[in-house]
Amino acid sequence: MGGIFGVISKKSCTMDLFFGIDYHSHLGTKRGGMAVYGPNGFNRSIHNIENSPFRTKFEHDVEELEGTMGIGCISDTEPQPLLIQSHLGSYAISTVGKVNNEEELLKYAYEKGHTHFLEMSRSRINTTELVATLIDQQATFEEGLAFAQEMIDGSMTILMMTRDRLIASRDRLGRTPLVIGKKEDGCCVSFENFAYINLGYHDYYELGPGEIVSVTPEGIEQLKAPGEEMQICSFLWVYYGYPTSSYEGINVEAMRYRCGEMLAKHDMEENGNIHPDIVAGVPDSGIAHAVGYANASGIPFARPFIKYTPTWPRSFMPQNQEQRNLIARMKLIPVSDLIRDKKLLLIDDSIVRGTQLGETTTFLYNSGAKEVHIRPACPPLLFGCPFLNFSRSKSDLDLITRRIIREREGNEVPEEILLDYADPDSRNYHEMLEEIRKRLNFTTLRYHRLDDLVKSIGLPEEKVCTYCWSGKGRCTGHCKGCQKKQ
Ligand code: SF4
Repeated sequence: MGGIFGVISKKSCTMDLFFGIDYHSHLGTKRGGMAVYGPNGFNRSIHNIENSPFRTKFEHDVEELEGTMGIGCISDTEPQPLLIQSHLGSYAISTVGKVNNEEELLKYAYEKGHTHFLEMSRSRINTTELVATLIDQQATFEEGLAFAQEMIDGSMTILMMTRDRLIASRDRLGRTPLVIGKKEDGCCVSFENFAYINLGYHDYYELGPGEIVSVTPEGIEQLKAPGEEMQICSFLWVYYGYPTSSYEGINVEAMRYRCGEMLAKHDMEENGNIHPDIVAGVPDSGIAHAVGYANASGIPFARPFIKYTPTWPRSFMPQNQEQRNLIARMKLIPVSDLIRDKKLLLIDDSIVRGTQLGETTTFLYNSGAKEVHIRPACPPLLFGCPFLNFSRSKSDLDLITRRIIREREGNEVPEEILLDYADPDSRNYHEMLEEIRKRLNFTTLRYHRLDDLVKSIGLPEEKVCTYCWSGKGRCTGHCKGCQKKQ
């Protein structure tokens, strides 16, 4: 995934930029970057943040990066921001998203005379550089951004800094958010709208899907109006958005309470024979859902295990799965008084491979738990994300659901069968759940329904992307790349 943040001010922007980017640290683990424009022109710093947080890596750079404008990012993939010199002039650029038609766009760029790209490890190119190359194909920044958005299959939110303004462009279908904050001296552009609260900015403007705005210290000027169609990522609310953030005016924490309330309501209506002693959330993202469940059901909320935060403050993990499992195990510390002889109802944001939740359940039984009821706060994950660089699994077959489906259906599963497994009223769905329940040794298992998930968000169904669970909405065929293929 990743996050971006920018500031344009009448005064020094450096400290606001530093803290604003740092507040996006939950969105990525690989690279952090800051670029400023000041008396010495463009200046930039990029660091590897895989083993050490953004703040510790950049606290010394802050003294050297002086300017009144700046952009930066937390990136899960390529080093950014890039400093570019083209016929449009000098600029810095940072992006969040994913390009699925990279080969096609590279071919297009070479045909247009672009001779080379920076190569990163394993022969991959820097995606942000490819985006800049598309922008440079046109006569103005505005036209270039609109052109890049049309050409890219995937999703791309872009933040640029020229010598006199910032330019912000939200991805074509608004899968990721982009907001403007304002205070007396200037404006900021941010993925997360909580990132500027403590810096003194107030909410000023939320870009619509595909909208492009120019930003100066005084305010914004619209360069391209938003499109009508929106497919904002619903996983933002379920898992990776920060609890204090709101997207499209809907707060993450409050949405998670509603999820929990709906899970409780269904249990009270359909599962009257289960009587948990306590409700708990798997830290951190399951906690708010559990609070909602406890409030609605009247069953006390408790924390039978607590995360050791002083040394494990970040919610994302190393790429290596074994290390991830180890870290997950090490950072959760049990409270045996709250486990022994208790019937527990546990809410996790989702089940990916099932390994960690299975181990947690075994651990709870070994610690004396009498029952472990599991309520994931979203439906069964069946499809990897093709739109953003966000995935909770390396391949679809890592997902416990897909492994069970392969065992039942063979290696080649027709799409209509997969969609049947996604239907909460189908026999296949219920048999798959029973298999997951048995394998992971849960007393009972019931997932959040997709229609309830959409209701918990509160936006019209057609405005939110639910592809991970429903498999619907893979391609809207809007980008030029797709149109050429059809
Ligand atoms: S596929 Fe899933 S993670 Fe990707 S944009 Fe859609 S809801 Fe979000």
